[in-house]
Amino acid sequence: MTDERTYDLIIAGGGACGLFAARRAAAAGLRVLVLEKKERTGKKILITGNGRCNVSNLSVSADSYPAPMRAFTAPALDALPVKTLMREFSAIGVPLVNRGDCLYPRSGQAASVADALALASREAGAILKTESSVRSVRKMRQGFRVTAGEEGTQYFSKAVLLACGLKAAPKTGSDGSGLILAASLHLPVKPVLPALTPLMCAEPLAGVWAGVRTQARVTVSCGKERAEDTGEIQLTDFGISGIPVFQVSRLAVQALTCGTRFQTRLDFLPEYEAEELMRLADRLAVSFADRNILQLLGGMLPRKLIQTLARKLDISEKAPAGVLGKERLRRAMALAKDFPVRVTGYKDFSQAQVCQGGVAREAVDPQTMMAVKMPGLFLAGELLDVDGPCGGFNLHWAWASGNLAAKSAALYVRGKL
Ligand SMILES: Cc1cc2nc3c(=O)[nH]c(=O)nc-3n(C[C@H](O)[C@H](O)[C@H](O)COP(=O)(O)OP(=O)(O)OC[C@H]3O[C@@H](n4cnc5c(N)ncnc54)[C@H](O)[C@@H]3O)c2cc1C
Repeated sequence: MTDERTYDLIIAGGGACGLFAARRAAAAGLRVLVLEKKERTGKKILITGNGRCNVSNLSVSADSYPAPMRAFTAPALDALPVKTLMREFSAIGVPLVNRGDCLYPRSGQAASVADALALASREAGAILKTESSVRSVRKMRQGFRVTAGEEGTQYFSKAVLLACGLKAAPKTGSDGSGLILAASLHLPVKPVLPALTPLMCAEPLAGVWAGVRTQARVTVSCGKERAEDTGEIQLTDFGISGIPVFQVSRLAVQALTCGTRFQTRLDFLPEYEAEELMRLADRLAVSFADRNILQLLGGMLPRKLIQTLARKLDISEKAPAGVLGKERLRRAMALAKDFPVRVTGYKDFSQAQVCQGGVAREAVDPQTMMAVKMPGLFLAGELLDVDGPCGGFNLHWAWASGNLAAKSAALYVRGKL
């Protein structure tokens, strides 16, 4: 049967992974149909990197991902090294520029990435159908039957790639329906939780520090595990946010979910040693005996943060250093260096950048991205139990796994796999 409902490869999900795979597979000569549930493809790409899209990272390797994922991610990453990715993006009209190892489109606009990927897929011959939510995928004696859209239109293909993402930012389309499709195909699924997400804290003075953005180090310690990152942290009325918080949130979310005890500490003066700060406190107290704490620390820390420290330590904001004395200044410095926060929760999928969990890695052959127990079914992107830190590593996984899945699907369709 060869008509407009019969394809070599049907891709469920026109996000980063699905679009990259569509172009690759169509360029390899396959008849490709992408079914995307939203009104346009690549909706999530539009909001990546604060609208600028951090496409990849110059340092990307299997070591960029959590240890249990490295063996699984290596073949796909090896098949698409970052220099090759840069050439590929250049070839579709999107040269990438390096900003501290993070790669962005030269345009500075995420929309240019989403648009170019969709255009290049179409130019290679892929058909992109929007507002076509995949409702079911059934294995037939030969190939697959895919049902999509409100009317339940049926399509047929030799191979299927599930690239539906997970649940992060569900307004962009990835609402977990890929998990239902995977489960209906008897694929094992690991519990899905937010990974890069803001953390909620029981901090009585959060109302005082709300709105502060400051350089700080955040550390989460849970038994032998420790996650730490330094950069601009946002102090909010619910707790803490910003990229460093996202980077450590994976461990905090796991600990909260398992009910395991863990500690979270903020260092608002990460570039100073603790002893150096004690000496500085002593010097300030002597040199500026008439200055109050806001004046003494005003050049080092944001005002609202100094107010938070002062209130926590019951230090009058008006009292001069001569009255406060060295000891209380030392305590203020020590608290700025090591500020404990009690993390009580995390923001849900609507505010998470990626998810942890998803289709179990054991169910997929990492050399091909094909389901171990269902020839012709491929899985890639965030739908799989793979997630990385901020910095372009999650999109790189979407491109790399989509690339390998497409290449493998081309071999499969030609009877070579
Ligand atoms: C705010 C934000 C900022 C981010 N910034 C970055 C960044 O700068 N760099 C980086 O590396 N990563 C970033 N990420 C993460 C990155 O966007 C994801 O890792 C990546 O988009 C995953 O690609 P994917 O194609 O696997 O899934 P998705 O991008 O989620 O795409 C899945 C697609 O499948 C569609 N779909 C779902 N179910 C169905 C169905 N049943 N039928 C048909 N279609 C379906 C969805 O509508 C969606 O278009 C960010 C994420 C967020 C939320």
